[in-house]
Amino acid sequence: MTQYFIDVILPVPIQKTFTYAVTETEANFIKKGMRVAVSFGKTKMYTGLVFDIHQTAPTLYEAKEIHQILDEKPIVNELQLELWQWISNYYMCAFGDVYRAALPSAFLLESETIIYKNEAFSEESVLTDEEFLIFEALQHQSQLTIHQVADILGKKKVMPIVNELIKKSVVYIKEEIYETYKPKLVKYVRLHANYASENALNKLLEHLSKAKKQREAVLTFFQLLTTKKPIKAKDLEIKANVSSAILKSLVDKNIFEFYHIQTDRISFKGDTNSLKKLNEFQGKALTEIKDAFKEKEVTLLHGITSSGKTEVYSKLIQEVLNKGKQVLFLLPEIALTTQIITRLQSYFGNQISVFHSKYSMNERVEVWNNVLENKTKSQIILGARSSLFLPFSNLGLIVVDEEHETSYKQFEPSPRYNARDAAIVLAKMHKAKIVLGSATPSLESYFNAQQKKYGFVVLNRRFGNVQLPKIELIDIKEKHRKKEMNGHFSDRMLKLITEALEEKEQVILFQNRRGYSPVIECKTCGVSPQCPNCDVTLTYHKYKNELRCHYCNYQRAMPNNCGACGSNTLDTKGFGTEQIELELKELFPDFKIGRMDLDTTRGKFGYQKIIGAFEAKEIDVLVGTQMLSKGLDFDNVSLVGILNADSMLNFPDFRAHERAYQMMVQVSGRAGRNKKQGNVAIQTYNPYHQILQQVSTTNYTEMYKEQLQDRWQYKYPPYYRLIKITLKHRDFNKVDSGVNWLFKALYHSFGEHVLGPTAPTVSRIRNQYIKNVVVKIPPKQSLTNTKKQLQKIKNTFEAVKEFRPIRFIIDVDAY
Ligand code: ADP
Ligand code: ZN
Ligand code: ZN
Repeated sequence: MTQYFIDVILPVPIQKTFTYAVTETEANFIKKGMRVAVSFGKTKMYTGLVFDIHQTAPTLYEAKEIHQILDEKPIVNELQLELWQWISNYYMCAFGDVYRAALPSAFLLESETIIYKNEAFSEESVLTDEEFLIFEALQHQSQLTIHQVADILGKKKVMPIVNELIKKSVVYIKEEIYETYKPKLVKYVRLHANYASENALNKLLEHLSKAKKQREAVLTFFQLLTTKKPIKAKDLEIKANVSSAILKSLVDKNIFEFYHIQTDRISFKGDTNSLKKLNEFQGKALTEIKDAFKEKEVTLLHGITSSGKTEVYSKLIQEVLNKGKQVLFLLPEIALTTQIITRLQSYFGNQISVFHSKYSMNERVEVWNNVLENKTKSQIILGARSSLFLPFSNLGLIVVDEEHETSYKQFEPSPRYNARDAAIVLAKMHKAKIVLGSATPSLESYFNAQQKKYGFVVLNRRFGNVQLPKIELIDIKEKHRKKEMNGHFSDRMLKLITEALEEKEQVILFQNRRGYSPVIECKTCGVSPQCPNCDVTLTYHKYKNELRCHYCNYQRAMPNNCGACGSNTLDTKGFGTEQIELELKELFPDFKIGRMDLDTTRGKFGYQKIIGAFEAKEIDVLVGTQMLSKGLDFDNVSLVGILNADSMLNFPDFRAHERAYQMMVQVSGRAGRNKKQGNVAIQTYNPYHQILQQVSTTNYTEMYKEQLQDRWQYKYPPYYRLIKITLKHRDFNKVDSGVNWLFKALYHSFGEHVLGPTAPTVSRIRNQYIKNVVVKIPPKQSLTNTKKQLQKIKNTFEAVKEFRPIRFIIDVDAY
């Protein structure tokens, strides 16, 4: 007798698929990419995804039967499975992890107690450490199983903590295995069949002669009927100015009838405009991109800030849409890019769907289904990195905007993929083209373009021929010496701000640290208050007069005395956005000062509010962190000030200089985008630093050449690849002996190309000690073999009993 089997991917961190038995009828019905409910382990039920259908029984175990088939047709296509497999291989992570990350959680059903976060909860300060860990995990994924909670806390008995969280309204729980996606139904009104005839209206009005409100509702209904469109109950209530109770009573009288139509939660309302006409330079860039595409799949567009890259992308998009193909437009951070979304929506309105990790589960399922069915309204997907996982069947183009942004790399949890790089693989699978765009490309992409692996197109005119801003460096060592500083502002910076404000122009000030002052230090003994859970000093927040840890959110009131020596000589050192804001308010009392950083942009619309207020010119000077460097387009900013460039340059990371360049050029790019040339002023103790010189002349190529030389000399990307291994555990000695074992094993295989073991700058976070080892892979060494060897070492490590509780994290192409 022939037997039938299916291989199933399970949403658990294991590498393999599992085989289950099915009947012949089931085998004929089942297709790859459908979901099945299967039991795994002792009692648990999981949503598995069919990966293969065949007739070979497993040899190591007896195949169990499946519990249920959950889909009528596949919800995942074969190209997606191919991409998942690539991600799992390349980034050395479990297939199950990719599956879990790829599917909206509503698709993954388990028969387990599931913990959901209560969206309304925000009082983080009432949480204990352990409770906070769970709360934090729920910021990254919308639900957790009891198992996952146990994993996070590193202990088995977790129900008391879960119960406490429920009491504090942080979470709620459900036991489930049923479909959680609920289509949104909109209520419509139509006439009851009794009144379907010609003279219905007269009959009705007669009938309702005494009920004034009901009469009004019926009259309005007939008015709306002339538009020949279905009539929404809500619209009728508004137009007739009646309550829902009135409609209800008409339904009870068998005059009206309610019915439902399924609609999307997310749809675009508003008019669309035709695309802008490209100027000469943009037109040339467009032609060059298309030419490059004849030979290459990937093209890098190096277009300076405000050169109008978005307009060029839009033309490409339109041409691809005309061929009936889908477009994926990747953005680094959706919340900060509402301006681009609005612009693209104004061109392509109802063909765009935005895919947002902050969207509700239901909204995400809707976008998924629309893409799956290749609906018109999802021809273009705008989204952050996870939109890569949508069920595209027919991609023609991918745009990766601001391709240099580090947020394209996911570093926690697994899969630790780089969406830009995975997008290139995805494009190849679809035989689609992909354009990477940036004013400050990553060294890697620029290198690939120079090596002719990618096409390369330059756009070095600002739209409207506005010149790039004048950038001046202000030597604050000198200014201090001459006593020309006022707080953190040099006289020159103040003069420029005053001039801009007098011209009724706006100012952006950049300080890459939030809070009032990063460090509190005792003047007597030199000790700074530390976080009890992490290996960092606490940051002073003046507004609440408290000290906070930016890693674990620990907070305490600002003490009066030094905890080490007892003297009352605690003083602030360094400065953050909050302090700058306060100084500005004193210096410019007649102007409105705003602040944009993590502390002021919490909540779903936090960003939009501040960006909107600045656009509406309700704010004159906006102080902010690196959020300000992300592609914002304001037309009235004539001055950008960087208050302290040095903190960015003195960062212990091989990418620090590249990033500092990118950050400063991007923030500078916010100045003078319209009509008039803008000004940029950079305060520094070290104006001769080569990066600052390169920023002040916007000399990307020089920066590139110099950095590239360093990368070659010190064996870093783009020449060498890096795989970072991180070990974490609460017990310092355990991590320490684990990492020493690991280092020796790696050294044995890879010799001098193993770096470490090192402790990161912050070597303990939330009471977990952290150690790193980095494996460098030389240009000619096989990546596949290296990974195989590494995997072997990991398996051996995990076979050692005392190492087993240590978290072992592999990060390929680590940042
Ligand atoms: P980038 O993304 O390269 O920084 P943008 O695409 O944001 O530049 O363009 C900068 C500004 O110039 C925007 O306000 C945009 O509307 C305007 N702009 C760019 N190209 C055109 C064009 N061809 N016609 C009209 N306005 C344009
Ligand atoms: Zn901490
Ligand atoms: Zn002291």
